[in-house]
Amino acid sequence: MSTIFFILPVGVLLFGAIIGSFLNALSFRFNTGRSIANGRSRCMHCNHTLGILDLVPVFSYLLLRGRCRYCGTKISLQYPVVEIVAAGISLITYVTHPDPLAFFFWLLVWMILLFIVIYDLRHTIIPWSFSIPLLFLALLWVFIFRDPMSGSIQSYYLWALLAGPLLALPLFLISLVSGGRWMGWGDSMLELSLGLLLGLSVGASALMCAFWSGALVGIFLLFLKKGFKIRSEIPFAPFLAFGAFLAHTFNVDFFSSLPLLW
Ligand SMILES: [Zn+2]
Repeated sequence: MSTIFFILPVGVLLFGAIIGSFLNALSFRFNTGRSIANGRSRCMHCNHTLGILDLVPVFSYLLLRGRCRYCGTKISLQYPVVEIVAAGISLITYVTHPDPLAFFFWLLVWMILLFIVIYDLRHTIIPWSFSIPLLFLALLWVFIFRDPMSGSIQSYYLWALLAGPLLALPLFLISLVSGGRWMGWGDSMLELSLGLLLGLSVGASALMCAFWSGALVGIFLLFLKKGFKIRSEIPFAPFLAFGAFLAHTFNVDFFSSLPLLW
């Protein structure tokens, strides 16, 4: 009996690392004309087909000391970082959602978000082909999976559905005022899904965490990075995703004492 408590978390960790590895491959191939279905992974530099020993998440990177086995070119740090983050998310999701259905649902949500974050960091744009499936999952959550808790079913649906547009509105307005320069249009689309997934109260807390962490990182960059100006474009999806994960996982809720909010 005790071994299962050990094997399961390790399996969950590995599962997350493998998804992270897949997200890495996807992030380098998506919208580049390279097909994800086009079989074997290759070195981005020398195009050598990678063997099984080159493809073990995290360990390959450490074993090869961050260089390609065949041509010696540096491997992007993105590979091990994303694999470790994905493994961590998977384990935390398993601990907070031990029920298999809930685990797979939330893992899917966080992994789609993780891909959006990688993509936003690389290209400062949020891909619609990922934010629309996320919106679909969010609606599935409101209508099927989420427990309506107390109160009437009408007020549940009213607040659960309003949470998305209400939380997306401030981001939408920032984009509108700045013509999309301070905040991309994709951010309000993303926030729409996060609002539906988290509800108004936790969602608002998540949004506050996003703005705080964004401001903190912005100030850091301002001091540490030469040539970084306050008007330099910072992708905001990573902060939205971070805030959402934080608020949902640790039940951060600054507004729980307000009776009206969900
Ligand atoms: Zn190579």
